[in-house]
Amino acid sequence: MSTTTRITHLIDGQSWTGTAERTSPVFNPATGEQTGVLDLASAALVDEVVKSAASAWESWADASLAKRAQVLFAFRELLNSRKDEIGALITAEHGKVLSDAVGEVTRGLEVAEFACGIPHLLKGGFSENASTNVDVYSIRQAVGVVAVISPFNFPAMVPLWFIPIAIACGNSVVLKPSEKDPSAALAIAALWKEAGLPDGVMQVVHGDKEAVDALLTHPDVKSVSFVGSTPIAKYVYETGTAHGKRVQALGGAKNHMLVLPDADLDLAADAAVNAGFGSAGERCMAISALVAVEPIADELVSKIRDRMGKLVTGDGTRGADMGPLVTKQHRDKVAGYLDSGVADGATLVVDGRESDFDADGDGYFLAPTLFDNVKPGMSVYDDEIFGPVLSVVRVHSYDDGLKLINSNPYGNGTAIFTNDGGAARKFQRQVEVGMVGVNVPIPVPVSYYSFGGWKNSLFGDTHAHGMEGVHFFTRGKVVTSRWLDPSHGGLNLGFPQND
Ligand code: NAD
Repeated sequence: MSTTTRITHLIDGQSWTGTAERTSPVFNPATGEQTGVLDLASAALVDEVVKSAASAWESWADASLAKRAQVLFAFRELLNSRKDEIGALITAEHGKVLSDAVGEVTRGLEVAEFACGIPHLLKGGFSENASTNVDVYSIRQAVGVVAVISPFNFPAMVPLWFIPIAIACGNSVVLKPSEKDPSAALAIAALWKEAGLPDGVMQVVHGDKEAVDALLTHPDVKSVSFVGSTPIAKYVYETGTAHGKRVQALGGAKNHMLVLPDADLDLAADAAVNAGFGSAGERCMAISALVAVEPIADELVSKIRDRMGKLVTGDGTRGADMGPLVTKQHRDKVAGYLDSGVADGATLVVDGRESDFDADGDGYFLAPTLFDNVKPGMSVYDDEIFGPVLSVVRVHSYDDGLKLINSNPYGNGTAIFTNDGGAARKFQRQVEVGMVGVNVPIPVPVSYYSFGGWKNSLFGDTHAHGMEGVHFFTRGKVVTSRWLDPSHGGLNLGFPQND
């Protein structure tokens, strides 16, 4: 008989001991078994958590840069040493294969490494003698309690896009993870405590709309970093800013890969399969529309179909290439697009429902699916499916492909495949998308650059991590100063030390 684990909030460094009025089940998508019961926070509990984060913030904001960097370095080491454990938690609740789960922790780790340089990142400017005997300098200070609301598809990486930088800048964090796969967030929060972060600076509160609304409207929450679907991102942006908060709300995506006739078609086919079906297409940077500039479409479709025949779909703990979808409802919704694509007139080249799966139990599997002759106006093109469904759209020129991409309401990621440097350069300049790959299908920026899309893929003007992250989690201040007399510090022959 299977057992279910209670999963609850982490408040002031301790697991919450209260009784939840509402709970939500957590499943293993590879078996269909319920493995957990998640406590959902009420608005009153969120208020309690935010108030306690606010009181923890007062002393954390005063911690020296040296102290904050020490905690960051310790956290980085701990995260690196536990990435396999956290990866296993992700696979058990999200379903993605183990290597991919560990891979997302590693991408989050890179943000922690970036944040270790906080003493350098927070250096301000200084202008001596801006006026006679007057100096002017700039500093950046923490904003206070910051909320992070994350989606199911990257339960470790997305929180880690924000949290290390927010903490390094001297803020307190309240994280509200996805209710579908909440355990990785708790494991990461435990590492902060172990790294020496004072209790209360990193809080985890679980919940749904009630908890999110409580964060968006709470006067002590100063900023909101949200990642999720476009309708919720828009709602979060509008509600949060209406309540005086700075908000960065990253939304959904429909990522196009433009393949020009001169491209290396084997490279392009590998890339399309990897980027289309990795993590069962549940990546905001997944390629879901492959735009083939004729006359190469027939050859490219045939190469992709051949590669798809070699993929194993199954339980992510036992070596499959692709795992299940996150919930039964989501699996059925994605499978529904296969019927609507056919009804709309697209050609179903590979049907993911007709596959055997390497798994036991009642997992939420759907194997990779390929559509050809897809056009705007069909739901498989217009909607963000967020599953292992790749659509080939045939166009007759670079200009037609560019127009298609720029007409799409989303603008998260895109890629061009070509051997023509001039064409690639023209594309990177003309395309209206926030992250662009040149012969790279998933152009997720490294941590010291910033991640974010355009149009309906991001509400707000600040992208995640990199220097934009440092700016988002701090407020600027400029000081103009004049000292009429020299000051004397006294004698001290000791060696300077950080404490
Ligand atoms: P989601 O929008 O359903 O949920 C995201 C968060 O919002 C969760 O924490 C959830 O609890 C909360 N939420 C859900 N419904 C809410 C409501 N009515 N009111 C307030 N809060 C609510 O997204 P998801 O299904 O967890 O994640 C997949 C989506 O996230 C996809 O659209 C994907 O493209 C997007 N995503 C975008 C990026 C990016 O960088 N742009 C990255 C990852 C995921």
